[in-house]
Formats: sequence, structure tokens, C-alpha cells
Amino acid sequence: MFVDKAKIRVKAGRGGDGAVSFHREKYVAAGGPDGGNGGKGGDVIFVADDNFSSLIDFKYKKKYAAKDGEDGSGKRCTGKSAEDLIIKVPRGTVVRDAETGRIMADVSDDEPKIIAHGGRGGRGNCNFATSTRQIPRFAKPGYPGEEYQITLELKLIADVGLVGFPNVGKSTLISAVSAAKPKIANYHFTTLTPVLGVVRIDDERSFVMADIPGLIEGASEGLGLGHEFLRHVERCRLIVHVLDVSGIEGRDPIEDFKLINKELKNFSEELSERPQIIAANKSDMASPEQIERLKEFAKEQGMQFYVISAATTAGTKELIGAVAAELEKLPPVKAFEAEPVTAEELERKALSKTEFEIEVQDGVYYVDAKWLEPIMRTINVDDYSSLQYFQQVLKRSGIIAKLENMGIKEGDTVNILDFEFDYIR
Ligand code: GDP
Ligand code: MG
Repeated sequence: MFVDKAKIRVKAGRGGDGAVSFHREKYVAAGGPDGGNGGKGGDVIFVADDNFSSLIDFKYKKKYAAKDGEDGSGKRCTGKSAEDLIIKVPRGTVVRDAETGRIMADVSDDEPKIIAHGGRGGRGNCNFATSTRQIPRFAKPGYPGEEYQITLELKLIADVGLVGFPNVGKSTLISAVSAAKPKIANYHFTTLTPVLGVVRIDDERSFVMADIPGLIEGASEGLGLGHEFLRHVERCRLIVHVLDVSGIEGRDPIEDFKLINKELKNFSEELSERPQIIAANKSDMASPEQIERLKEFAKEQGMQFYVISAATTAGTKELIGAVAAELEKLPPVKAFEAEPVTAEELERKALSKTEFEIEVQDGVYYVDAKWLEPIMRTINVDDYSSLQYFQQVLKRSGIIAKLENMGIKEGDTVNILDFEFDYIR
């Protein structure tokens, strides 16, 4: 079974709690507070691993959680931060927030992608000693880790995608020009799994070709096989459109060409504009007239045209040469940009749980609100609109009103999760 889609839940670790502890030493009466901070919870991180070629593992295991940070302890000992949870996925896996559809990451390069951030550790009481309060008997609990329901979608990374009706010889072609060994048989839909093959041009140059399962009419509406596999053509820089020029199966290659391109267009406008090279296959069985007719058609379409026989490998060298030359002119394989969290989404998530606590210590207003943490992470203090947005969040969540209630004055210091600023009305 080839699995290229999965839905799982990931949860980062929560931060350890801060400790309440006092320094104790023989003959020293009142030791100061020395409770350390909690350690950070583990992140959930995705990395590409070329040993994986499908998402099958995620069909069976659906929940992934990183470990929690350790609590702080006396003698100002900070709790140990938890190890990150590394999840290996096949290269080309696109991660989305299942709730909103937002692209969180495209795991196609070697850079690890943090999908859920671990919570910070809570602060120990050693942080809360002040000249007027020398015996702080409180510490802060750790912060929860981020948790997401996510979808994984594998979009293979290949330079060239082979498309064409079933049985036109795509699998035969890829096995003729690369070391890939897909199933080849004289019946439709033998290829149920996209197959990648590395095509060597010379000692230094090579490219990746993908044999995509046959497209059939209606595939883009999800009828029959094909639609599901079109996503694997999405990243290809170039399409080699394989046609059976011999019409041995009673099909007309020109009709096939039109139908397939209609399917590509239905799936994605962008995909239909991808450059194509026509490979007229099974030429060993075709008449010169059949070849001439298709050649004329290709000319009308303004497409490069190569006559090949995948079975005898005649003409495949020339085709590969043309593909290589074309690839040199084309931009690199398409990567999907991670989309930023929208302000609305943050707020929707945040406002659903807007509890907060405010404590005043020596004229400083300490606001504790765990849900603000992910928002704080996105705030850019040098950016006016970002700060304005932050203000709005504070207002809507009732924090401002509460501060006012507590008698805050212009110029007083507010401390939100260690971010300090002067209160301005
Ligand atoms: P796919 O469905 O497009 O992957 O087609 P396959 O590669 O599985 O080929 C379907 C059938 O066509 C198989 O029986 C192949 O042996 C045959 N075939 C493929 N290429 C050629 C060719 O160049 N000439 C001839 N005569 N038969 C071919
Ligand atoms: Mg095949």
C-alpha cells in the first residue's frame, strides 16, 4: 500500500515548574530563596529522511508527544530541558495545520522544521526576591507545549514527471533510462506507487524522474486512479508526456494528449502551464504515417517531440539529452512556503482561553497568561503595527481593563512573560 496522506496529532512537552526553596546552611538563619527554574519542554521537529518513501508509519501511530521539561530545584538548579522529539518523514512532506489548512512546513530540504514548540519552564522563587519581599513563597508553573492536529501530504520531489495514459510505456521508459524497477505489465494501472529514478547524464549531472501512475479521464474529479497521484507531479519542473504513437490499444495519441492535458488543467492551472516534451513511444510498432501525424500535431502545439521506443531504448538517449538541456533553463523544484499564523487564528485560539493573573510587586505589574506565549513569540517590538496588534489583544482579553482596575498609572511597568514595557494609556 502506498500512503501519501496522513493525519496525526503532535504535542510538544510542557515546561517544568519553578521551585520554591530557601538556602539552608548551618548557622545561617534566614537563607535567601534559591528555587531554580523549570526546564523547557521538548519541541516536535520534523526532518526529511531519504530512507522513507511513504507515510505508511503514520497510518498506524497517530499521536506523537515530546517529553516535558524537569522541574527546577533548590540551590538555583534549573530543571533539565527535555529532548526534542524528532519525527522522520519522507522528503517532500508538506505539513499543514488540520484545523485551518495553513501550511506549517515543507520538509524537502535538510533543515529541521519545528512544528510544535515546547513550553518554557516556570520561574523559580529565586527570581522573585526583591528588597521589600525577601521571602517569596511562590514560583511559577511551567508553560504548556503547543499541540496541533496536522495533516501530512507527500508531494514527491522530482525534476521530471512522466504523464500519460495507462499502458503507454511510462514504466518501461523509466526503467530504460534509470535504475528504477517499476512493475511493467500489459494491463492498465500496473503502477500504483509513484516510482522515482535517478537518470545519469554524465559523471557529474543527473536528474530525478518520477513515474506517476496513469491518469485517466475524470481523474481530476477523483474518479478512478489518477487524481490522488497528480499531487506528485505538482513539483516537477518539466513534464514528459508519453504517448503511444502506434495506437496499438486502439487509442488515438492525439486524443489522449488532449484528455490528459485537460485533466492536468482541471487539477491545477499552474500545472498545465508546466513545460512539456512529447515522447512518441512504441515507435517500433508504428507506421511512418502515424509518426508523421503526431509530429505535425506536436509542431502545432509548439512542443518538442521525440520518437522513442522504451522497449528497444531507441531514441531514449536523445530524449534524455533534450530533457537535461531543458532542465538547465528551468527554475529549481518548487518548494511550498510555510504560511505565517494569521492574527485572526492566533486570536481565535487565544481568546478561547483568556484566563490571566496579575500580581503587583514593587509597582511592577506581572501579567501571567500562558495563552499569550505563542502570540508574544510573533510580536516584533520594533514594528508599530505589530505592537498595535499586541495592544489590541491585551484590550480584548480584558487585561488592560483589569490593570486599570488595579490602579495602574501612566509610566508604571508592566511585565508580561518577561517582556517589560511602560504602561501608556
Ligand atoms: P505504463 O502503464 O505507461 O507504465 O506502461 P508500461 O511501461 O507498463 O507498458 C505497458 C505495455 O507496453 C507493456 O507490455 C510494455 O512491455 C509495452 N511497451 C512499453 N514500451 C514499449 C515500446 O516501446 N514498444 C513496444 N512494442 N511495447 C512497449
Ligand atoms: Mg506503469
